[in-house]
Amino acid sequence: MQIFDIEKELFFSTYKRLEVYIKHGDGVYLFDNDGKRYLDMISGIGVNVLGYGNENVKKAIIEQVEKYLHLSNLFVQDPQVELVKLLIEISGYKKVFFTNSGAEAIETCIKITRKWGKRFGKTELISFSNSFHGRTMGALSLMDRAKYRDGYEPFLPEISKARYNNVKDIEEKVNHKTAGVFLEFVQGEGGIVPADENLIKKIFELKEKFNFLVVADEIQCGLWRTGKFFAFEHYDVKPDIVALAKPLGGGLPLGAVFGNEKVADVFTFGTHGSTFGGNPVACSAGCAVIKEIQNGLIQSVMLVGNYFKSKLLELKMKHQKLVKDIRGLGLMLGVELNIECFDIVRRLIQKGIIANCTNNNVIRLLPPFIIKEEHIDFFIEKFDEVLNEFQQQSSGK
Ligand SMILES: *Cc1c(COP(=O)(O)O)cnc(C)c1O
Repeated sequence: MQIFDIEKELFFSTYKRLEVYIKHGDGVYLFDNDGKRYLDMISGIGVNVLGYGNENVKKAIIEQVEKYLHLSNLFVQDPQVELVKLLIEISGYKKVFFTNSGAEAIETCIKITRKWGKRFGKTELISFSNSFHGRTMGALSLMDRAKYRDGYEPFLPEISKARYNNVKDIEEKVNHKTAGVFLEFVQGEGGIVPADENLIKKIFELKEKFNFLVVADEIQCGLWRTGKFFAFEHYDVKPDIVALAKPLGGGLPLGAVFGNEKVADVFTFGTHGSTFGGNPVACSAGCAVIKEIQNGLIQSVMLVGNYFKSKLLELKMKHQKLVKDIRGLGLMLGVELNIECFDIVRRLIQKGIIANCTNNNVIRLLPPFIIKEEHIDFFIEKFDEVLNEFQQQSSGK
């Protein structure tokens, strides 16, 4: 196909594209060039929580497009103000900074943490194994996987990595020089791995003793993806700083960093900024996204999520050789397989399902919040067929 050749020819080879050529989306479905329909189980990697073509998001965007596309942060802007009021009211945080992306939100978190730490002579950051925080140099410095980091050295100094869900390791790594601990309460790219209660308890115990900041990367797991506005609410704790992004702009680029009173005065005029951060069209979309979710979808994420997980657990019982583990919360679910999952994803696509493989052997499921039980049933039926095919293949060998 011609566009695939152009893709190979003219772009830096950073993305391994799926072998489908999508022309448009509608609700929970995507449609390819031949009109074939696909159930979308990945939502543009956790972005399109309202599926495709939501009328209220479209309306909000068009209304703002008619006023202005950009003014710059020299100006105070209605859409930013409307969104910040919603976010503060929902979250209970004190301050917000808007960015264009997840990685930029993480950079903002690093800068707040470093600057806050300076006051107390604290310079070290701690992050966790197998985490994902983005592709910029600061974000990469927090990560440990060679796949993302190799060749980009040197990284930011004074960052150490603790093993995720290992209570002893974090205890050994934290000290009086620790300025902040960065973590995903549910790791996304790392294979949909929720944090252990014990890990979180230990981090907040250590925080009492050593006085550092806890920074939650909720870029993938936030905005009700797990059934709560922030995934950390499942743990009954409150981090000092939170990064949000992927779904926030309803498909337009938008991120946000939240801070509590402890860090409220860290930034002063001119010490941080962004030309495009908090783009008014993206913020208008963001307001519409939040109102749509609040208008009946929050419950649905939990209910359909629980239904989905119970069906996946049934499938695991049926395919014990292939399925190793089912993990996740709400509509952020992962199926860990005993084999690499790229071929499984390819076969699912043939059967009309867009899914994603992360961390080599985890099928990552991040469907839009508007998904219903009947769609889950369709997915389970097709996934069951694919697993049967693989079962036969491996026993036939
Ligand atoms: C996607 C993601 C990021 C990076 O966001 P970008 O918008 O791609 O820069 C950071 N952290 C987590 C947990 C993510 O899932």
